[in-house]
Amino acid sequence: MSQSTYARLTQELESIDQEGLYKRERLITSPQSGSIMVEIAGKETAVINLCANNYLGLADHPDIVASAQKAMDQYGYGMASVRFICGTLDYHRQLEEEIAEFTGFDDAILYAACFDANGGVFEPLLNAEDAIVSDSLNHASIIDGIRLCKAKRYRFANNDMADLEAKLKEAKANNARTIVIATDGVFSMDGYIANVPELRRLADEYDALLMMDDCHSTGILGPEGKGTAAHFGLQVDILTSTLGKSLGGAAGGFVAASQPVIDMLRQRSRPYLFSNALPPAILGGASAAIKLCREGDDLREKLSQNAQHFRQGMEQAGFHLLPGEHPIIPIMLGEGQLAQDMANRLYELGVYVTGFFYPVVPMGQARIRTQMSAALTTEQLDKAIAAFTQAGKELGVI
Ligand SMILES: *Cc1c(COP(=O)(O)O)cnc(C)c1O
Repeated sequence: MSQSTYARLTQELESIDQEGLYKRERLITSPQSGSIMVEIAGKETAVINLCANNYLGLADHPDIVASAQKAMDQYGYGMASVRFICGTLDYHRQLEEEIAEFTGFDDAILYAACFDANGGVFEPLLNAEDAIVSDSLNHASIIDGIRLCKAKRYRFANNDMADLEAKLKEAKANNARTIVIATDGVFSMDGYIANVPELRRLADEYDALLMMDDCHSTGILGPEGKGTAAHFGLQVDILTSTLGKSLGGAAGGFVAASQPVIDMLRQRSRPYLFSNALPPAILGGASAAIKLCREGDDLREKLSQNAQHFRQGMEQAGFHLLPGEHPIIPIMLGEGQLAQDMANRLYELGVYVTGFFYPVVPMGQARIRTQMSAALTTEQLDKAIAAFTQAGKELGVI
């Protein structure tokens, strides 16, 4: 029995590889930054890093490391408990209050990851009488969270507000009790920003709650990096985000919302109730990261300049980019194999990027998703553009 299972898995893995879709992880031997050390052919080599979510360049910031170490000195290494049994430190509550204040909500609740926050946010709030209207390009964790919830599901085409309104009408016609609109703040594969003014207007018109996942906006958009809604001077009703990207890049996620929502999640949210409390080092690091983020207008300015510079250079070189201003800059290539070959060649040329292909993006829309960081210098970006140009010519892309 088990032998036939293993044989089937081996065969499936082989076919993934044959289609050029096999993901191979590269080993990094330094802290995360604009330039990182990797091992190529047994030799430690520096490569320019264009694919971390290290937008503000805080992943190796000494203040964050020091704050994490200080928290460990005071509280030790681990909590060995979920929050409600015996795992809540005063520091957990302090960080939740800092997040609530930062994001402009009554309260916040921490999770081990934003994947868990999205996985656990819907089910406690909604049942079969309710409806979730979800953007078709939402992150996998939102899709999973919706699957785990009994609410009726509606899907609207990415950022298509007319389609959203049609689905809201449908939900109303089906007598939905509570309606939640679920969307990413910035769509991670394209770098497109959600149309918050229209989302807010429709949510209000149809008496729906607006839930937004701001993983790729927190720290980047809006004053002090407060996120997508703040970028438009607006507010959503339920916000989820991560501590694993701009805010130091370690791990952890949160939901920020009105008090009854957070209180209900603390009572009923399964990834919160049945998974360990975040460790002290993460609390210390995240707290320092939020402070640096809020004071980090210079970092956001550098990030934006880098995005402009790279975009311009790549367009001049003849690459097809998706339009936008976000530090996510996708280089469109088409087929998965080409995205892989291009990424491999760039790696040899000293630029670390990753090919994205089906099922992460739609079939035929394979790409290299580059991501800018405040830790990147103009010189590094110019080297990267030159390497892209060389690899692009070799592979017939430009
Ligand atoms: C990265 C990401 C997540 C997952 O966050 P983790 O904290 O790493 O689990 C969820 N949603 C979106 C949109 C993301 O980009």
